[in-house]
Amino acid sequence: MSIKQLLFSLLSITLQQTAYSAQLTILGSGTCMPQPHRKAPGNLVSAGNTHVFVDAGPGILQAATKHVDVTTLHGAFYTHFHFDHIGDLPDILTWLHVNQWSHDLGEDIAAPSPFTIYGPVGIENHVKTFLNLAFAGATVTKCVKFVELAPGQTIEVGDFKVTVHKVPHTKESVGCRSTLLPTSSSPSNPGSCGCLLQPQG
Ligand SMILES: [Zn+2]
Repeated sequence: MSIKQLLFSLLSITLQQTAYSAQLTILGSGTCMPQPHRKAPGNLVSAGNTHVFVDAGPGILQAATKHVDVTTLHGAFYTHFHFDHIGDLPDILTWLHVNQWSHDLGEDIAAPSPFTIYGPVGIENHVKTFLNLAFAGATVTKCVKFVELAPGQTIEVGDFKVTVHKVPHTKESVGCRSTLLPTSSSPSNPGSCGCLLQPQG
């Protein structure tokens, strides 16, 4: 995956030189091919109390634990259905399922927070099929919700307003552009900088 492709598939993040208002952590920028220093694609986007993945290939949940309390994740955006971008879903869903199951059994563990999976039209069916292939008979736990993204759509996600764009790659591929809401709990909200890339196509 080239840097250009990565930038097209990322949420565009508003950055400020001194006091940040949003933070992008690139957890992986490679592919599923074995490489010593590049994991499969995965990004952590944070602002205020909102933390989301933008794509999460194999190993991304583990990698994120160095940067965020993963129990606070709001959810994950998926740009398309290629395995290197969604490959950590079985791990993410199993982690949520085990936490929910343990909580329901009365163990001393908090119930997982709601976790929303955003993705192109068809994401829910695709994820359920993928999970069943990874773990036969497994079902998506009750804290998981799905939101389909269509080009032209605008949604609010925690501290972000997200607009959805069609991007070139696969027929379902979408890119998302985020801006901070005026009510963001982030330490500052400077608005967009001039260097943001606009999704093409
Ligand atoms: Zn791809």
